[in-house]
Amino acid sequence: MRFGAAVLRSYEDPFAVEEVMMNAGPAEGEILVRIAGCGMCRTDLAVRRSAGRSPLPAVLGHEGSGVVVETGGPDTGLAVGEHVVLSFDSCGMCRSCLGAAPAYCDRFAALNLFGGRPEHAARFTDAAGGALAPRWFGQSSFAAYAVVPARNAVRVDPSLPLALLGPLGCGFLTGAGAVLNSFGAGPGDTVAVFGAGAVGLAAVMATTAAGAVAVAVDRHPERLALAEKLDAAPVHSDAADLPGLIRRLTDGGAQYALDTTGSARLINDALRALRPRGHLGLVARLHTALPLEVGTLDQGRKISHICEGDAVPGLLIPRLTGLWQAGRFPFDRLIRTYPLADINEAERDCEAGLVVKPVLIP
Ligand SMILES: [Zn+2]
Ligand SMILES: [Zn+2]
Repeated sequence: MRFGAAVLRSYEDPFAVEEVMMNAGPAEGEILVRIAGCGMCRTDLAVRRSAGRSPLPAVLGHEGSGVVVETGGPDTGLAVGEHVVLSFDSCGMCRSCLGAAPAYCDRFAALNLFGGRPEHAARFTDAAGGALAPRWFGQSSFAAYAVVPARNAVRVDPSLPLALLGPLGCGFLTGAGAVLNSFGAGPGDTVAVFGAGAVGLAAVMATTAAGAVAVAVDRHPERLALAEKLDAAPVHSDAADLPGLIRRLTDGGAQYALDTTGSARLINDALRALRPRGHLGLVARLHTALPLEVGTLDQGRKISHICEGDAVPGLLIPRLTGLWQAGRFPFDRLIRTYPLADINEAERDCEAGLVVKPVLIP
């Protein structure tokens, strides 16, 4: 079958929206999904800086949602016509997968970032028959269709706004999962969120939904205004004595902090803003050594990296859609939709901070 997709051919060029070909249907355990929408995530854009490790040309996009149109074999657990959100790929067999921690799968990087499962490589090509990377994050959803392992697809209620649900598979999952799973925040807790982008604002919404108190730190006034509308106390990242200010706002220090910025200064400030035995989670990938200032880990404070919100997508995504239905996780307020044909405009707006979460509609 032929369908439209956004192809990234080089690390420097804009996306090219063109026809691609799927030369075989879903294999055993896979499904073919007609994509209703796909969020754009920082990790898609980071491919441009991957220094050759993520193979091109490729169809990126890993926050897809859509309708099952074909199943590969009888054992996918899904039926034609069902609505699904697509999440990251994992092997299902390693110690982490067996321990319900698929984000720490031994094959996470290979399956998601570096070309995916090679066994059906030849079936996905451009219109001229030229090879495309087999799969990105188990899906490649900047396209009208995607073939994905059924393992990564989460069935959702058909009454939900399907085209907007894709970011629940990565960006929103990451922020909300950090708060709900990694921290287990609840009433009486305080969570300081550094960086009010899609991941940070999802963390803010999850904090409020959990009955805890959120502080949001950012340098963009419009992001702080949005965080305030989501019930966070807004704090400018250049405020004098930022850690002291957050400690005053949180009655002696935040129980939890989440850094989405990767900034060494803010990470040190986040640790200083924690109360004793507080926990700082990092979600950004660090590209340099992290200098920790003297004393920042004293008093039982701890720091850890959190991938994909420590989530089992099949458990967390229904929880988040349930919170949305109850009016307690209004993720749709972070989204602006673009036709897939306007993907380069969406990327520009994303890089310029003009949109929190672009969702591309094929
Ligand atoms: Zn695994
Ligand atoms: Zn992502």
